[in-house]
Amino acid sequence: MLHDSLGRRFHYLRLSITELCNFRCNYCLPDGNPCDTPKDNLSKDEIRTLVATFAKLGTSKVRITGGEPALRKDLPDIIEICKNTPGIKKVALTTNGFSLKRQIHDFKQAGLDALNVSADSLDPRMFAAITGKDTLEDIMQGIDMALGCGIQTVKLNTVMLKQFNLADMQQFFTFIKDTPVTWRFIELMQTGNNQQFFNQNHVAGDSLKNNLLAQGWQRVIAPKHAGPAQEFSHADYAGRIGLIMPYSKDFCQTCNRLRVSSQGKLHLCLFADQGLDIRHHLSANDIQGASTAISQLVAGKTAGHNLQQGFTGATQQLAMLGG
Ligand code: SAM
Ligand code: SF4
Repeated sequence: MLHDSLGRRFHYLRLSITELCNFRCNYCLPDGNPCDTPKDNLSKDEIRTLVATFAKLGTSKVRITGGEPALRKDLPDIIEICKNTPGIKKVALTTNGFSLKRQIHDFKQAGLDALNVSADSLDPRMFAAITGKDTLEDIMQGIDMALGCGIQTVKLNTVMLKQFNLADMQQFFTFIKDTPVTWRFIELMQTGNNQQFFNQNHVAGDSLKNNLLAQGWQRVIAPKHAGPAQEFSHADYAGRIGLIMPYSKDFCQTCNRLRVSSQGKLHLCLFADQGLDIRHHLSANDIQGASTAISQLVAGKTAGHNLQQGFTGATQQLAMLGG
């Protein structure tokens, strides 16, 4: 199993397959795709080699992300490649949901186990104000279809934004009363490009956590391999609440994931200073070379990000790497 010098073990790969996106979320790509967005994405063969390499090193879960991963027409093939790699037990997708209504059955058939969909508001006008798209209804229908077609785990992601969606909280709670999804609230993270927006909109998750506990929500004991999200359940609700608080103390201690960009660079942290190029091994279908390189690089992973001090590393916006 891949591990670093602090004993953290990495069984989870987050793979970005494109930096392109069709949304303009105000905290991520307010002006749309930058003109230098790279387009020479990892090919399916390179992805096959990459995933086989990680599986050989003990990875059992792959999350496909972006940019918007569903902009790649070969997404169902990529899901299938991950799913058919010996050792990979779980294939997950993070998407803005724009194609779910049309494609969820293809994703399921290809072997998708888990789905995370971004939904920053349940009010169509607020949703459009945040994402630049008037497509909330379609996305919610796609989520319904995902639940109906037997995707094991469905989670919804909301970035908490002081000036936008905090007033929508009650709608999220009403939704999970009868719907068995985990609705996850993510603290806005500062990136290279969103400093002013961050200063105006960051909300710490603590007050939500305190409110949940005061209203009878109970912390769910996390399974051994769980990530840094804190989950809460309540007897009156079919769904759960998740909280992701990257600014909280010790957030990085439970880090269990590594990231690879759509250009084949290994990122040891979402906010690392740079990506480490392993693409030449992937293009050459060199699993042994890739696995030696990754093991050596991972040993040098630092203890934590320095977001609290405002250091955002090379990450200009999260569409570059997938969050
Ligand atoms: N386009 C897909 C989507 O939106 O789900 C996948 C990529 S997106 C970068 C992955 C996740 O990162 C989304 O849930 C998004 O809301 C979140 N995200 C993006 N920028 C963020 C930021 N600055 N702080 C916190 N979360 C952010
Ligand atoms: Fe696109 Fe996802 Fe970024 Fe929104 S959060 S702009 S959907 S990559």
